[in-house]
Amino acid sequence: MSDAPIAVFCDFDGTVSRRDVGYHLFRHFSGGENEKLLPDWKSGRLSTRDCLVREAAMVRASREEIYRFIEQFELDSGFQSFVDRCRANGTDLTVVSDGLDFYIKHIFERDGLKHLPVIANRGVIANGGLQVEFVHHNRSCERCGSCKGERIREYRQRRGSAVGVVFVGDGYSDACAVTEADIVFAKKDLEQYCRVHNIGYYEYDDFFDVAQKLVDLGYLTA
Ligand SMILES: [Mg+2]
Ligand SMILES: [Zn+2]
Repeated sequence: MSDAPIAVFCDFDGTVSRRDVGYHLFRHFSGGENEKLLPDWKSGRLSTRDCLVREAAMVRASREEIYRFIEQFELDSGFQSFVDRCRANGTDLTVVSDGLDFYIKHIFERDGLKHLPVIANRGVIANGGLQVEFVHHNRSCERCGSCKGERIREYRQRRGSAVGVVFVGDGYSDACAVTEADIVFAKKDLEQYCRVHNIGYYEYDDFFDVAQKLVDLGYLTA
């Protein structure tokens, strides 16, 4: 596989962003109510779609309050240079999120990364609350809002030629992606998931580590 070029897919919350924006947004604007849903979501009893719809219904906030809240979140300190390195290598990099598009796009615009492709659910702020629209269709997955495994399969089909897929993530929303990827970088809950399910992965702390490993493996130039 090392002869084929690679394409990189990255989770956003807790991976590209240092802290989980979606989690903190729902927790803050629901007064902590959303926490009650998370054990059922983590165990798979509650689908991501049902979870997000219920979390969004708990939000009471104006557009200004929401955007002011988002401002505190920072990207991984190695991400910008990782993006530059991928671009210099002609390597596709896509952000796949099962969170909401508006905060990702807002932070990317703020940090000069609005050219990056983002695939996420749509969040609509209106009437003092928040609604979620599922704009990406899942053929078979019943767990995810927008299934990252299905998005990767669609990319492979579109691209047509052999490609090694690299996935970088940190949580349960990445479960469908890691079985679809050729090379996995995992931390936190995703690392645990990979161990339990016998999925090979590389540990990482930040995107400097991801870049270094891909250089060492010969997929990116230094
Ligand atoms: Mg995450
Ligand atoms: Zn899925």
